[in-house]
Amino acid sequence: MPKRIPPVPVQPGHHFCYVCETPLPAGDFYQRRGKPSSPCKACAKKGPERRAAFLALIEEAREEVRSVFARRPLPEPIIPEYQPMDGFARWLERERKKQAGKRKPPTTPHEPLSGPTRPEETL
Ligand SMILES: [Zn+2]
Repeated sequence: MPKRIPPVPVQPGHHFCYVCETPLPAGDFYQRRGKPSSPCKACAKKGPERRAAFLALIEEAREEVRSVFARRPLPEPIIPEYQPMDGFARWLERERKKQAGKRKPPTTPHEPLSGPTRPEETL
């Protein structure tokens, strides 16, 4: 933040309060990092009162916004025709039916495999 220049000349040992707009002795200010901090002690005590006016304005504006949105009806919720991933679920169902159709009926469980056979092992 740029340094503010007081509109009136300030004597050494004095400090300018930008709230009450008067140069005051440094003892009338709270010290912050060894320097007098603006505003002066009297104005700093009145700070909440000064802020209350702004907060009231802000609250008034918020009430106005709330009343505007309260009058507006809520939009209808958009309900999807299908549940999420339903397309995938239907596709998977179709694929499983296709696979089931292609699959041969199970043969005898102990059907010998074709190919070279190993000589019988003797125990
Ligand atoms: Zn002041």
